[in-house]
Amino acid sequence: MTRFFFNNCLYSSISFISGRPGDTRDGCFTVILWCNHTLIINALIIMNNHYDIIIIGTGSGGSTMAYALAKTGKRILILERGGFIPKEKQNWDPHEVVTVGRYRPNENWYDAADKPFKPFIHYNVGGNSKMYGAALFRFREKDFMEQEHYGGVSPAWPIQYDTFEPYYTQAEHLYHVHGRHGIDPTEPAASAAYPYAPLPYEPLILDLEIKMKKIGLHPFPLPMGVQLPQDYSETEAPVMLENFDGFPDLTDSKADAQTIALRPALAKGNTTLLTHAYVEKLETDASGRKITKVIAIIKNERISFSAGIVVVACGAVNSAALFLRSANDKHPDGLANSSNQVGRNLMLHHNGCLVAFTKKKNDCVFQKSLGLADFYFGADDSKLPLGEIQLMGRNDADTINWLAEKIAPGKTYAELKEMTIDFWLTSEDLPSPENRVTLRKDGSIKVNYARTNYAAYEKLKEKLKHVFVQLGELDADYRHVQWNGYDLDITGMSHQNGTLRFGNDPSSSVLDVNCKAHDLDNLYVADASFFPSCGAFNPALTIAANALRISGHIIHQLSVAKDFKYEEPVML
Ligand SMILES: Cc1cc2nc3c(=O)[nH]c(=O)nc-3n(C[C@H](O)[C@H](O)[C@H](O)COP(=O)(O)OP(=O)(O)OC[C@H]3O[C@@H](n4cnc5c(N)ncnc54)[C@H](O)[C@@H]3O)c2cc1C
Repeated sequence: MTRFFFNNCLYSSISFISGRPGDTRDGCFTVILWCNHTLIINALIIMNNHYDIIIIGTGSGGSTMAYALAKTGKRILILERGGFIPKEKQNWDPHEVVTVGRYRPNENWYDAADKPFKPFIHYNVGGNSKMYGAALFRFREKDFMEQEHYGGVSPAWPIQYDTFEPYYTQAEHLYHVHGRHGIDPTEPAASAAYPYAPLPYEPLILDLEIKMKKIGLHPFPLPMGVQLPQDYSETEAPVMLENFDGFPDLTDSKADAQTIALRPALAKGNTTLLTHAYVEKLETDASGRKITKVIAIIKNERISFSAGIVVVACGAVNSAALFLRSANDKHPDGLANSSNQVGRNLMLHHNGCLVAFTKKKNDCVFQKSLGLADFYFGADDSKLPLGEIQLMGRNDADTINWLAEKIAPGKTYAELKEMTIDFWLTSEDLPSPENRVTLRKDGSIKVNYARTNYAAYEKLKEKLKHVFVQLGELDADYRHVQWNGYDLDITGMSHQNGTLRFGNDPSSSVLDVNCKAHDLDNLYVADASFFPSCGAFNPALTIAANALRISGHIIHQLSVAKDFKYEEPVML
């Protein structure tokens, strides 16, 4: 009965007995359940709070891990601090989503000068993937190796591309990636084709593609994670994508972590999701080697859970913060922090947007379809890597009006939309021990962050501008382009990674190659924290592929148990 109610998400109807502040309850609370204003249950529920596995966080890492582990038949609990994003008309309202920040938390983090800032993050079921652009890239082979950059050296990973490759393929199939291998020369070998053909280019993008090729570039269709009725059926209405990156998706077409990975995990019946469950602390046994308690705050009540295996996937900053909050006698500087690396090496990518104001009419509805990696490893005038460029979803009216203030004053948004093409640029950010997450005295998050490799990003911007000078020689409509844009600063936490890096050496890394904490026997990390370096491609596919990889290790650990049953993943 309890399972039925829990799995059917009637959480909002559940009230917990309140206790004294600071009390921790070991699994008994009162459930008051109302249905159509009728009290149907008012009972003391004794919960068995012990699980085989607890997963904390439901982003690309946590949900993919849940998907992979649900097949073991083990009893799994997922704790997520946020709730479901409601499906409502505001999902696609640019003013509400972008300007007002309707789905972002009202939380302050603090910079090096202790100045508060609002991080661009999302606490909800599915994590940041509910808002992501679903451009699902593999990192390139050289991203796993040591590489020199303008800002210093990008360190090698303890395992190389060939180890990741099968998991990238699995993740591309799981996340319904539409794309075509073999067009972008920087792309590494893939053992299988993408499951779906690329999304079609709209006329302007086709024009750009043709002309970019004429000037010697290698534009390629963005690998996009979407599940569209038109992929499966001619008897269903097709979904026309529009507001996408930065927006939740009312149609569930975006292949985000909740719809793709968490939903099937919950359908298995052995997996329970508790929303609005903020994990405050992890406690260890006296030896310090084993997590014995996961303390969550649910409706102002501290509830204690336990599990044989605990997987942390709170996003890079919050996972590090959880480790630091969990300091105890055996782990005085924070959990698993004998290396003094917990919270360090935070990377964000150097990200930003450049908008081209051209004479070419842009009537694209879904612009996010073409990428350019010709400058990824360098350029004619740059021996060192610069980064990657992709088209993004159309900027919202508030942003375009602001960017056009000096370039095209007095024009309406409709007019501006026709004359703008929006690009997203990413360059590699390098790990620095000084770029780190710590906790302030009141427990709030402090982020010391200084840009590491910005010269590459500035040069990448110049490259894009020069591409248009060359395009202008082929087509007068691309001549005399005017540019404006914005660069993400410390608030731009969308691609956060690196705070609990993995490695072979416990003195310089927090996690081992299986993403298990070196210092503990039952603690794993499945989000972007494990990255020792971050390349310059969007991170979500690598996070998901890694979750699939380490789930294999966890399943192997579990396979000794008697009640183990496992279904092989089915390629979709
Ligand atoms: C607007 C936008 C566009 C993006 N576009 C792309 C793209 O096109 N391609 C791409 O690859 N990537 C993109 N990204 C980045 C991508 O979404 C993230 O890299 C990825 O989702 C991170 O996954 P994660 O598992 O590391 O963490 P998250 O997605 O951050 O998930 C962490 C989860 O843990 C929960 N949590 C945190 N603390 C606690 C706690 N103490 N207790 C319980 N739960 C907790 C959070 O609520 C959250 O649900 C984009 C991101 C944004 C915001």
